[in-house]
Amino acid sequence: MKEYWSEKAKKLSPYTAGEQPKEKLIKLNTNENAYPQSPDVAQAVAQAVQNLRLYPDPNTEALAEEIARYHNVKPSEVFCANGSDEALAMCFAAFFAGNDTANSGGWFPSTQSGHGIKTLDVTYSFYPVWANFFDVPLEIIPLHDDYSVNIQRMCNSGGVILANPNAPTGINIPLMDIMEIIEKTKGVAVIDEAYAAFSGSSAIPLVSTYKNLAVVRTLSKSHSLAGLRVGYVIAQENLINALKTVKDSFNSYTVDALAQAGAIAALRDEAYYEETTRKIVDTRVYTVGELWKMGITCLPSSANFIFARMDTRPAKSVMAALREKGILVRWFDGERTQDFLRITIGTREDMDAFLTAMRELQI
Ligand code: PMP
Repeated sequence: MKEYWSEKAKKLSPYTAGEQPKEKLIKLNTNENAYPQSPDVAQAVAQAVQNLRLYPDPNTEALAEEIARYHNVKPSEVFCANGSDEALAMCFAAFFAGNDTANSGGWFPSTQSGHGIKTLDVTYSFYPVWANFFDVPLEIIPLHDDYSVNIQRMCNSGGVILANPNAPTGINIPLMDIMEIIEKTKGVAVIDEAYAAFSGSSAIPLVSTYKNLAVVRTLSKSHSLAGLRVGYVIAQENLINALKTVKDSFNSYTVDALAQAGAIAALRDEAYYEETTRKIVDTRVYTVGELWKMGITCLPSSANFIFARMDTRPAKSVMAALREKGILVRWFDGERTQDFLRITIGTREDMDAFLTAMRELQI
């Protein structure tokens, strides 16, 4: 029964977030960073707590300046949001929503022609949720059999939403391919780089070349700040202004004062995060190698998680058996994902506990 629900609310099919368990488990299910945030963050947040009486800066100027310094772009090329989920939702609203053939002079192909916004069949499952929310026609392009991206089929669209590295596969798309996709879309190419810190490759240097490129980043994974909720978009000023227009038509204060202060402190402590990122990448290589010795194959990951194929037992039952042993991993229902487990890279100790459990289960 959906009494009093709006017609809009009745038609929504929401995203299901990974579990945040109450009990103490080794948590390898939601791709959080294995290490704590920089100690400077607590200090900056404690100071900002003194002034909660005031609204935060609605234009996030100091934070945008820090992000601009960090990525070597202009502050006017930065848009800040309450996590990258919000940044992505605003991209849908700012670049894709309402672009039907009728009011776009025909440049945006309609659902009937079968060429709407393109995304992949195995990717971040929030994209179709936003497409549904904003009534954006989405064309789903299947990955190749090896889970790599079919670049030619991703071209010629009314816009693109792509995670790079992709999730949950972890596979990195080379920048040359990203460039081809950007050049061959009539609309905006939104590249979600939630995990790019672990791949060492980014489309941000391409922003100065392409006026239709929007790169979305988050501090949740790279900077161990999933709880603080800070994401952002890097793009040329025209696209940033569209995002600001959307934000100020919805909620002017999306990034709270504590988040702005904590994020600035985190971005300044580069040496700390270089070290934690290096440790995660090293542990990823180690874990993939140990699984390989057990006969378990993983897709080639450039992220802080791996996608491991379970050949001898249904992946869902392996997830349940691991949970019995105090280890939480993620399984996604779906034809092309059901044989895999997505395992976040934890500390070396976390991964040794995971590997021991896998050996005991004789997977
Ligand atoms: N993009 C991808 C591909 C993700 O996996 C996630 C994490 N669920 C996000 C975006 C959102 O991250 P956040 O909102 O914490 O910035």
